Amino acid sequence: MKIAIIGSGYVGLVSGACFADFGHDVTCVDKDPRKIAALNEGRIPIYEPGLDALVASNVRWGRLTFTTEIGPAVREADAVFIAVGTPSRRGDGFADMTYVFGAARDIARNLAGYTVVVTKSTVPVGTGDEVERIIREANPEAEVDVVSNPEFLREGAAIEDFKRPDRIVIGLDDPRADAVMREIYRPLYLNQAPILVTGRRTAELTKYAGNAFLATKITFINEIADLCEQVGADVQEVARGIGLDNRIGRKFLHAGPGYGGSCFPKDTLALVKTAQDAGSPVRLVETVVAVNDQRKRAMARKVITACGGSVRGKRIAVLGLTFKPNTDDMRDAPSLSIITGLQDAGATVTAYDPEGIEQARPLLADVDYAADAYACAEGAHAVVIVTEWNAFRALDLERMGALMAARVMVDLRNVYGPEEATRYGFRYLGVGRRRAA
Ligand code: NAD
Repeated sequence: MKIAIIGSGYVGLVSGACFADFGHDVTCVDKDPRKIAALNEGRIPIYEPGLDALVASNVRWGRLTFTTEIGPAVREADAVFIAVGTPSRRGDGFADMTYVFGAARDIARNLAGYTVVVTKSTVPVGTGDEVERIIREANPEAEVDVVSNPEFLREGAAIEDFKRPDRIVIGLDDPRADAVMREIYRPLYLNQAPILVTGRRTAELTKYAGNAFLATKITFINEIADLCEQVGADVQEVARGIGLDNRIGRKFLHAGPGYGGSCFPKDTLALVKTAQDAGSPVRLVETVVAVNDQRKRAMARKVITACGGSVRGKRIAVLGLTFKPNTDDMRDAPSLSIITGLQDAGATVTAYDPEGIEQARPLLADVDYAADAYACAEGAHAVVIVTEWNAFRALDLERMGALMAARVMVDLRNVYGPEEATRYGFRYLGVGRRRAA
């Protein structure tokens, strides 16, 4: 199959590289000439484990190319995937569809022969109808079917997720498009990935329902963690105790600083707006959004409490900036609210992240960046673990403590426990765990 991918970001680039690896002939298109120039020079503009090798080998085999020119890529394609961003619209939180509709217009002008246009971006219910309308209006002759195929990959494990998905969801109405989509995903039949073929609107809503459910699960355990702190229980053990129940499951029960990232915050908000507009509000998700927003700010207060009630004039070392490990993505990362909250309270912040510093720089003012965790802790009155990178899982706490102005650790990912930290003389505050002196 000949495939064009419009948008070569986290989703577009991973999808393109994986489709090429399946044996398809893929052209990745992006409007950003720097991104395409980097890719054509063999540099990967994002950090995603394994992506450099996957891209390099498929480029070498001649199955993967990059361009800013949408025309030829679309004209030759059997299927065109839209994988552009759908950020929150400023002001009302609804998904900003500018990029998707812009891509649809660009595609429409260049269609030749029967083509399946597939929306891979996360888009509100009804977007497929609108994409179809835009294409038919711009190019009434076009022989086209518009399909929804939401993406469920996770940054940091994106290639594995794409190649061994829990399921593939495809929303369409036409058997001809069905055949094309099945051909594209045929290599995954070997992995026995379940394919759910359903209506377009159902597929669109499935993506939002999935993300909202996961965000709810995280928020649930975060509130239980707060309760644990008040009543002297341990959230890690509560999570294990409920997670072993197969109806609940163990995943997404890690208490922490609140969910962030490029998907959950914007997708929960967009679902709330969609539901309000449809006259069928999702009150549970509305509450999840509000609780999570408050939580990120509350984490700065937690650090202030650990520092004895004030951080004015103190240096705080922040370990981890990205919203989760193994990515450089800083979009809506909890570290942004936490650091700003600490600065507002008068602290000076030093930060270290294995991959996120470059993306963090334009988003954070007045932060000193360190070269590693120990340099970050130097002279600090507290160290705050915000992201559970592997590099922070086995720190030499004696060495770290000796470098600090005060041995205080706020562990927002429960990487260490009170026993371990106190053994090295740290005053320790985790999430949802009994406090140690
Ligand atoms: P991204 O911002 O990393 O990439 C989007 C790319 O599209 C950018 O490089 C931009 O330059 C390009 N672009 C915008 N308009 C274009 C146009 N008209 N023509 C060509 N290129 C254009 O975004 P992302 O993280 O890859 O997310 C893309 C979509 O996938 C979003 O809807 C997101 O919600 C969804 N999604 C993301 C993830 C994730 O983990 N990042 C997972 C599942 C779904």
